Amino acid sequence: MAGDLAHRHRIETFGVRDRQRRLRELLPGESGPTCPWFRPRPNRGVVLRTCHSYTVPSIVFIVRRTTMPYNVPITGGDMKLDAEVLIAGAGPTGLLLACELARRGVSFRLVDQSTAFFGGSRGDGLMPRTQEVFADMGVLPTVLAAGGEPLPTRIYDGDQVIWEGSQAETYPPTADVPYPNPYFVPQYRTEQILRDRLAELGGTLEQGVTLVDLTHLPDEVVVGLLTRSGPQRARFRYVVGADGGKSTVRKACGIPFTGETDEGTTMTFGDVRLSGLDRSHGRIWRYGDSFVSLVPLHGTDRFNFTIPVPVLPADTSLLEHLQDLVSAASGDPGIVLQEITWSTTWRANARIADRFRERRVFLAGDAAHVCPPTGGQGMNTGIQDAYNLAWKLAAVLGGAHESLLDSYEQERRPAAEAALDLSGRLLAKYKNGDADANVRSREVHQLGINYRTGSLAEDRRAQQGSLIAGDRAPDGRTETGKTVFDLLAGPHWTVLQVSDGTGTLGFVLPEYPEIPVYTIDPDVWLKFGITAGTTVLIRPDNHIAVCVTEDAHQAIVDYLQNRIGLSAITTSPLSQRTG
Ligand SMILES: Cc1cc2nc3c(=O)[nH]c(=O)nc-3n(C[C@H](O)[C@H](O)[C@H](O)COP(=O)(O)OP(=O)(O)OC[C@H]3O[C@@H](n4cnc5c(N)ncnc54)[C@H](O)[C@@H]3O)c2cc1C
Repeated sequence: MAGDLAHRHRIETFGVRDRQRRLRELLPGESGPTCPWFRPRPNRGVVLRTCHSYTVPSIVFIVRRTTMPYNVPITGGDMKLDAEVLIAGAGPTGLLLACELARRGVSFRLVDQSTAFFGGSRGDGLMPRTQEVFADMGVLPTVLAAGGEPLPTRIYDGDQVIWEGSQAETYPPTADVPYPNPYFVPQYRTEQILRDRLAELGGTLEQGVTLVDLTHLPDEVVVGLLTRSGPQRARFRYVVGADGGKSTVRKACGIPFTGETDEGTTMTFGDVRLSGLDRSHGRIWRYGDSFVSLVPLHGTDRFNFTIPVPVLPADTSLLEHLQDLVSAASGDPGIVLQEITWSTTWRANARIADRFRERRVFLAGDAAHVCPPTGGQGMNTGIQDAYNLAWKLAAVLGGAHESLLDSYEQERRPAAEAALDLSGRLLAKYKNGDADANVRSREVHQLGINYRTGSLAEDRRAQQGSLIAGDRAPDGRTETGKTVFDLLAGPHWTVLQVSDGTGTLGFVLPEYPEIPVYTIDPDVWLKFGITAGTTVLIRPDNHIAVCVTEDAHQAIVDYLQNRIGLSAITTSPLSQRTG
C-alpha cells in the first residue's frame, strides 16, 4: 500500500513515539484531545488526493491537509448549532426518524452519502406493527395502494407442482388488530412514500453528503461531513447513526458489532423485468442441486428473483445466467427476461452493536443490528427503533429529563435480540431442509413486542390482566364510532379513562392541556383486563405508560413530571412540540 501511495503522496517514516509531534506539525490548528484527526485512522481510501500520508511500522495512516476547508473549528463553544439532530443515513430508519422529528417541530439535518435513491425491493414485507406506525403517521393508505397481500407460492419440479400454499395463514381484521397480516411493498416504494411525507412536513434530505467522523463534546457532537462542494464541519445536540450495517457512526464511536457472518450461507437476490409469466403466485423451481425463485413484486412490473450465487464466466452477464437458469428449470421458453433493475449478493449476517448509545450519539436500524431476511424483521425493527427514539429526542430537546434517552436501548435491545433470534431460527429451518421452512407464524408480526421491563412502564393496579404497562396499546371500537387508534393518532400523549357507568369519574388533566383525555366504555379493552374505573396513560409511540385505578390524577401528574420530566402548563415542552 505504501508503494502505491508513494507516487501520489509524501511518505514519512518515524516511530510511534514521534507520531503525536508530527501530527501536531501537520495539523497545527487542530490540537487537543477532542480532535478526531489525532486518533490515527487506518487508510479507508477517503480523500486520498488531498492527503499527507505517513507510516508507522506496517500501518499506513492518511491525514487530511491542514488546508482542508472546514467551516467551523472543532472546539470553541460560541459556534451556532447546525441543527438539533443529525440523522446520518436516509434508508427506511433515517427517513422515519426524520418524519417523526419533523412532525414534532425538531430541527434536524438528514444526510445520505448516496447521490441516487435506492431502487431495490429488499425489505418488502411490512409487518402489522409497522402498518400501525404508518397509520399513525398518516401514510398507510398510500402504502397500501402501493403494494398487496402475500401471494401463494408454488414449488415446481420442471412443470410439476410439488407443493402449493401460503407462507402464512391469513387472519381477518379484528377490533384490536386492524392490520392482521404482513403486507408487501417493495422497499424502494416505501422509502419513496416516506420521502414524500417528509417533504410534506417541510423536511429535506441532503444527498451526496457522507458522515466521515465525529467528536463528542460535553453538550454537542461535532461531525465531519464530506459534501459535493467539499468538506464541512457541523455541530449538533444529538447524532443518530441510521447508516446501515457498515455504519461509520458505529465505528467512529468504537462500538463493536458482535455476532457472525456466515460466508457459507449466501444467495443472490434481485429484481427483474420479464414477460411470459402471470403474476398470480410466486414460483420456486428446483433444478438439480440448484433452484430459482420468481415472485411478482406488487405495484410494479417486476419480479423478485433468488438464486444460488453464480460464478459467472467473463462473457456472461447475470441477466444471461438468470435467463438460462429460468429456461432450464421451468422448461418454458416463453419466459423472457428483459432487465435486472437491482441485485445483491447476500451473506447470512447476524450482529448486534454492543451499545446503542455513546454519549450523544445513537444507533438505529441496521447500524445497530443486522439479521438474515428470513421472517422479514430487519427493516421493520429499524422502523420501530426510529418510532421509539423520535419522541424521546423531541421531549428531551424540549426540556424533559435527559435520562429518558436511556430507555431507548433498554427498550429496543430486547426487541432487536428477539428479531435476531427469530430470523436465525427460521434460517436454520431452510438450512436443515425442514418441511415447514417456508411457513411463518404470527411471531413475525411484531405486535407482541413490549416494554414491560423498561423503566417507563408503571402499572399501579392490584390486579392486572393480559394488557399491562409497557404493552402496545391495542385498537378498539369506542361508543362514539371512533377507534382507539383514531384517538391516539398524532405525536401526543393520550389519557383513556374507562367509564364505570356512574358518570362520576370525570378525569381532567389541566396541568397538561395538550394531552387529550377520552372516556371509553368498559367493554373496549375488557377482554385484556382493563376494567371499569381504570385510567391509562399512553405514550406518543402508542405503548402504555401507566395503568392506575386509585388516585389516577396524582399518579399521572407525578409520572409526567418526575419520571419523564415534562413540566406542567405553560412550560410544557409538549405544547411547543406538537404539530
Ligand atoms: C435480500 C434482502 C431481503 C430483505 N427483506 C426484508 C424484509 O422482507 N423485511 C424487512 O423488514 N427487512 C428486510 N431486509 C432488511 C432491510 O432491507 C434492512 O433491514 C433495511 O434496509 C435497514 O434500513 P436502514 O435504514 O437501517 O439501513 P439502510 O437501508 O442500509 O440505509 C442506510 C443508508 O445510510 C446511507 N449511509 C451509509 N453510510 C453513510 C454515511 N457515512 N453518511 C451518510 N449516509 C450513509 C446509505 O447510503 C443508506 O441510504 C432485507 C434485506 C435483504 C438484503
